Amino acid sequence: MTEFFNVLAPADAFEVLRKHLRPLDAEAVDTTAALGRVTAEEVRSPEPLPAFPRSTMDGYSVRAADTFGATEGLPAYLEMVGQVPMGRPASVSVSTGQAAVAYTGGMLAEGADAVVMVEQTQKIDDKTIEVMRPVAPGENVVQVGEDVREDDHVLSAGHLLRPQDIGGLLALGIDRVSVGRRPRVAIVSTGDELVPPGDTLGPGQIRDINTFTLSGQIQEAGGTPLPSGLIRDDFKEQRSAAIEALRGSDILVFSAGSSVSNRDMTADVLGSLGEPGILVHGISIRPGKPTIVAMLDGKPAIGLPGNPVSAMVVFDLLVRPTIFALSGMASPPEPPAAQARLIQNIASVAGREDYVPVRLVREKGELCAEPVLGKSNLIFTLIRSQGIVKVPLDSGGLYAGETVSVRLF
Ligand code: AMP
Ligand code: MG
Repeated sequence: MTEFFNVLAPADAFEVLRKHLRPLDAEAVDTTAALGRVTAEEVRSPEPLPAFPRSTMDGYSVRAADTFGATEGLPAYLEMVGQVPMGRPASVSVSTGQAAVAYTGGMLAEGADAVVMVEQTQKIDDKTIEVMRPVAPGENVVQVGEDVREDDHVLSAGHLLRPQDIGGLLALGIDRVSVGRRPRVAIVSTGDELVPPGDTLGPGQIRDINTFTLSGQIQEAGGTPLPSGLIRDDFKEQRSAAIEALRGSDILVFSAGSSVSNRDMTADVLGSLGEPGILVHGISIRPGKPTIVAMLDGKPAIGLPGNPVSAMVVFDLLVRPTIFALSGMASPPEPPAAQARLIQNIASVAGREDYVPVRLVREKGELCAEPVLGKSNLIFTLIRSQGIVKVPLDSGGLYAGETVSVRLF
């Protein structure tokens, strides 16, 4: 068996690839449908928010000066001149010694500069209220542009749109937004032993898992999965499947056959398809060492190991950031993580990153991580776990009692 040459640390392997990656073209989409998309350009505010001075309390619009010195013993008496209904312009105006009913989020009455909370007032009759505490000018009022001023910088280019971003854009009337096109990710799943999940298994056959786990991961990263179907371990068939897949996609993901035995063809196939060709073959990781990184005439291609656990782990380290880079994000968002105390030792060797699935349990209120035992190629180890712990490259292992960061699924 040929050996792996130049095995790179996973982060270095991505750095090698990153230099070649360029964001895809932008497209305009409805803001209401832009969740999870990445902004292609800076967004500035076309108008101030709020657009009118708003009360933050139920109470009365007043002139603050009229309340100065007011106490429970010596309240200020104000004349009630009406109300400002919600969603309507301020048709009443208050002058010295007057007040108008204000609702939370409603417009401040003309002439008023503050709102007294209803709790700090008392109604004497239909025309008069007592104010028992002073308010300062601007108190209980959101000023025009206090949230965002007109022409303010609102979002940078390369920003992943979250629910609050969608809400903020729509609040400003921005109902279309320019985002990076969704990367289309072709999946070529190879192996003579594979059958579609609907089939009955013959001896020695297994059902294809990776097409579906990878499709899910691609969608979670904001890409569009394009499965090519199952391809046999035959150079010509794989090569034509890869050419076809590259034609309609932005990223090519090859599953299985990425090692160095004579049964493994991914390297030969990817190496025959474009320039500069293979950049990395082999990364210092377990599981997932037989991984291939290539650039084929401007398109990134990644050969993942067939072991479904390896494929998922390496996807996270190489394909996920590639999808985000093509979407227009220089670095992918931090995946969700939790700090937990390790319950058992995890052995490793220096010079290799290990990824170990863990179950999270609470012990006396403390979050603890328990390694899920089982050979690293068993898909159900990932199903029985809530996250994964990385043993760093330079570490010989982790000790029970250490606090570790768990990348949550
Ligand atoms: P390979 O990378 O071709 O050496 O495959 C490594 C292991 O993963 C072998 O046991 C394969 O049968 C298995 N395998 C390859 N592709 C898939 C797949 N799509 N779904 C499930 N297991 C697979
Ligand atoms: Mg194989």
